[in-house]
Amino acid sequence: MQHFPIFVALAGRRVVVSGGGDAALAKLRLLMKTEAHLTVFSPAPAPEIEAWADEGRLALRRRAMEPGDALCAALFYGADEDDAEDARTAAIARADGALVNIVDNLEGSQFITPAIVDRDPVTVAIGTEGAAPVLARAIKRDLEERLPVTLGPLARIGKAFRKMADALPMGRKRRDFWADYYFDHGPRAYEAQGADGAQAALEGLLERHLHAEDRPGHVHFVGAGPGDPELLTLKARRALDEADVVIYDRLVTPEILELCRREAMMIDVGKEAFGPSTPQADIDRLIVEHGRQGAQVVRLKSGDPTVFGRLDEEIEALYAAGIAWSIVPGITAASASVAAIGQSLTRRGRNASVRFLTGHDMKGFADHDWKALARSSEVAAIYMGKRAARFIQGRLLMHGAAPDTPVTIIANASRPDQRILATSLATLATDLDEAALDGPALTLFGLAPRAAEAAAHHLIQEAL
Ligand code: SAH
Repeated sequence: MQHFPIFVALAGRRVVVSGGGDAALAKLRLLMKTEAHLTVFSPAPAPEIEAWADEGRLALRRRAMEPGDALCAALFYGADEDDAEDARTAAIARADGALVNIVDNLEGSQFITPAIVDRDPVTVAIGTEGAAPVLARAIKRDLEERLPVTLGPLARIGKAFRKMADALPMGRKRRDFWADYYFDHGPRAYEAQGADGAQAALEGLLERHLHAEDRPGHVHFVGAGPGDPELLTLKARRALDEADVVIYDRLVTPEILELCRREAMMIDVGKEAFGPSTPQADIDRLIVEHGRQGAQVVRLKSGDPTVFGRLDEEIEALYAAGIAWSIVPGITAASASVAAIGQSLTRRGRNASVRFLTGHDMKGFADHDWKALARSSEVAAIYMGKRAARFIQGRLLMHGAAPDTPVTIIANASRPDQRILATSLATLATDLDEAALDGPALTLFGLAPRAAEAAAHHLIQEAL
């Protein structure tokens, strides 16, 4: 981030603009929404600026800027649309101690003005560091449509009520009250009865929330999916939005953690295969402890929480402690991986069943299972299988699997650094060593990427 967004208090401060054309007009229209004292320097101002000066909305000096003209100014806008004049005025303003912006000149500016969605006192500022003004405008348009026009008045009425709402204890109770007001009762009451309705709604809600029972703690086991935030379910998004505490595994991507409620307590219990980890008993203790304190806990697990997620141990701990819980399913790595190679997990006439195996702990995997898997056309999704690749390869070959059975390894499925390695059972271990894949990887036994399959098919057709 090269530009840090802040909101500057401009009431009663000086803001100086040099220029009298279109660029100056555009900035002035924005600045006049504030309570700043505006001074414009221009030998030839547009008629609008003259009119605003006549109305007393700004001070107009009909001359070019001189040293000292920006003294005590908080901000300065160079809007002469002339490189030489902008450089000259900016130098004066800088020397006078103002923070300088030159219109359409990122390098020459100390600050930039974002695209703004105005629902005063709610203001949304959108910046792209000058990289993509088109994008900023598109986001602005989107938000303009989405944010109700009543948001401004609702927020103003709400702001005046904040002291009263302090009667509610800080934290969850107070948050629930405000969420109720802004997203449920407030908008409805305002639409029906205007400002008086919103005010009455606040009073009624406060009474109700003051006497509401404490919401009991709850643990949501949430599937974070394979990594792409767009693959989260709407329920998962909601749980992340409302979480007081988020307890997450190592494979949950930063993009998804970004979506958690800002104030949520974030606890990393990252586990790495064969590496250091938080002992399961400690994790069980953590979720019980926070659940008992009445928190909305999100236990965030990669993929789907019910697949190789040690979910049952955690549920048993909650059950023993009498804490409510629920499961929000997610997209498991196997689903994301077949999607990446354009295949389906099952297919009529090929495989009517599919196995999910873990390569991490093969001790309990009985011999006849290998035999069943070794039959032709079987498909398996092998989790945590990178290190066990040679072992798996040996077992399957030993039990008669065809050496040319397709095997595809998908690393970082659904993420920007996704990689696909198409190989066969015979070459699995050596190809995997050579590819040196980083990140979580899923092995699809019995499946090749569709493109490769189609190409091979095509070659056979040609040979015929
Ligand atoms: N509950 C998770 C699996 C946890 S076990 C799920 O449903 O996906 C961890 C293993 O999942 C990793 O070793 C890897 O084999 C697989 N995995 C998780 N995320 C993955 C991803 N984005 N791409 C490929 N494999 C992934």
